[in-house]
Amino acid sequence: MVLIDGKKVSGEIRNRLAEEVQELKKKTGKTPGLATVLVGDDPASAVYVRNKNKICGELGFQSFEQKLSSDTSEEKLLQLVEELNANKDIHGILVQLPLPDQIDSEKILQAIDPNKDVDGFHPINVGKLVVGNALLTPCTPTGIIELLDHYDIEISGKHAVIVGRSNIVGKPVSMLLLQRNATITICHSRTQNLEEVTRSADILVAAVGRANFVTEEMVSEGTVVIDVGINRVDGKLTGDVDFEPVSKKASYITPVPGGVGPMTIALLMENTLKAFKESL
Ligand code: NDP
Repeated sequence: MVLIDGKKVSGEIRNRLAEEVQELKKKTGKTPGLATVLVGDDPASAVYVRNKNKICGELGFQSFEQKLSSDTSEEKLLQLVEELNANKDIHGILVQLPLPDQIDSEKILQAIDPNKDVDGFHPINVGKLVVGNALLTPCTPTGIIELLDHYDIEISGKHAVIVGRSNIVGKPVSMLLLQRNATITICHSRTQNLEEVTRSADILVAAVGRANFVTEEMVSEGTVVIDVGINRVDGKLTGDVDFEPVSKKASYITPVPGGVGPMTIALLMENTLKAFKESL
């Protein structure tokens, strides 16, 4: 079994991005800018946003932090998004989800300029992803593909089973795998005979949000197991895969933490750099 080291791979991506930012700065005098918008005081969201801004600094990106109170109106947030859309120093806009109840998240995501939509959630970018010509694709799914590529794991012709059909992980990772010529099966809470389906996977992606959901009975010998889950059990981060027994059967497996998680933020930075280069 090979442990897929997302921390190491994401570190390499970040080093490459930092070098490219320096080169572009020398050539153009400009640097990529990422705006993060945090509404309210959810502690987990605050940590995510802080990390993103910290990494911006490390890579030589400009970061524009916007913190709004939890009672912010939808109108006020839409107005801020318009301002960020118009700001030429900003190439990527990230609105941290979840948003408070009085704000319709869909409306906000649709207001972001698709060229600055570094999360890849705007319907235009989702459509382009399905067609197969998207520049900005969702960060976690793209990070998964980069991990597979880094370890030279064959995707083409393989049976990829994705458990979970969310718009942020399950669906986009399925589209990316399909684009790379995998045969895909998408499973969800109504899937019948789930174990049978997952046992037929060459590549199994677990994006369920339930600790230790994927048990050893659900996995065949030699499967590549990608664990997207982030669950807190007794204060400890745990994935969706029952790691110890499953790792004995898997050919490759991502740990939690240190697998898919660190890739997400690296890919966010990569998307911001792509959007910046498009703007030049
Ligand atoms: P969602 O809750 O949006 O989706 C969960 C999916 O799992 C749904 O499609 C649901 O099916 C399916 N599901 C639930 N129960 C079962 C079941 N018993 N059998 C089969 N399928 C089931 O979650 P997300 O996609 O947003 O996130 C999934 C996990 O990934 C979470 O732990 C999240 O924290 C983590 N995550 C990690 C990231 C990272 O950077 N590493 C980034 C984003 C998410 P149905 O649609 O039928 O309800």
